[in-house]
Amino acid sequence: MSKRKGLVWAGLAAGLAVVASVGLPALAKHIPWRVERWLAGLTDGPQGASVCHDAPPAAGSDALNRLVVRLYPLDAEDRTIPIEVALLRGDTVNAFATLGGRIYLYDGLLQQARSPEELAGVLAHEIEHVRHRHIIQGVVVSAATWGGLKAIVGGAADAGVAHALLTLSFSREQEAEADEDGLRRLRTAGVDADGLVRFFERAARSGSAPAILSSHPADTDRADRAARFRGYPVRAVLSAEQWAALRGLCRPAQAG
Ligand SMILES: [Zn+2]
Repeated sequence: MSKRKGLVWAGLAAGLAVVASVGLPALAKHIPWRVERWLAGLTDGPQGASVCHDAPPAAGSDALNRLVVRLYPLDAEDRTIPIEVALLRGDTVNAFATLGGRIYLYDGLLQQARSPEELAGVLAHEIEHVRHRHIIQGVVVSAATWGGLKAIVGGAADAGVAHALLTLSFSREQEAEADEDGLRRLRTAGVDADGLVRFFERAARSGSAPAILSSHPADTDRADRAARFRGYPVRAVLSAEQWAALRGLCRPAQAG
């Protein structure tokens, strides 16, 4: 190969690397929401984990809905990106957002949370991953690498696409963005933002690193960030009865 040709190839390779690392996430952000919804429709629900429902009067589902509406009241901006939140059976201490605005919380996370404010903190963080289009960005970037594509396709064959997306981990910037705007969302909703910090700090201290820390890398700045969101008036998210009903949603035998 001539020296000149070599340079052209090197330039092309460098250009592609830049597009892959910088351009792809930026491009993915502009994929229309309806296209992401369509993609989400092609994927299945979370296999190997079942969604918890309760029979009427459905106090648990009502409490979950109350929490979601409090954080995400579908104002003018929220209406363009509707979300669905469901609770999954399973002891995994995790929550994840997947394509099309679906957010799943595991019962294990719910049992680990010590207050509705802690759960609200995690949910606000997940909502911001959706709103900032971090999931579609992760999918596009992963699919652009052979290893990532294999992980998604292989994971999908094993346990469903929604579960394969669990292997997506977000960048530091994306985590910081979800924290920052999650905290802002909590403030707007009048929900105590300490819940978000308390939950992640306790998770980090617990001996068995919960799954939520691998899908949402721990960030030492989280507490500092939250400190800037203190001193605003807060109102309770759920009553004690509503919180008990929500925690009993996946375990009707223990509810009461
Ligand atoms: Zn996260």
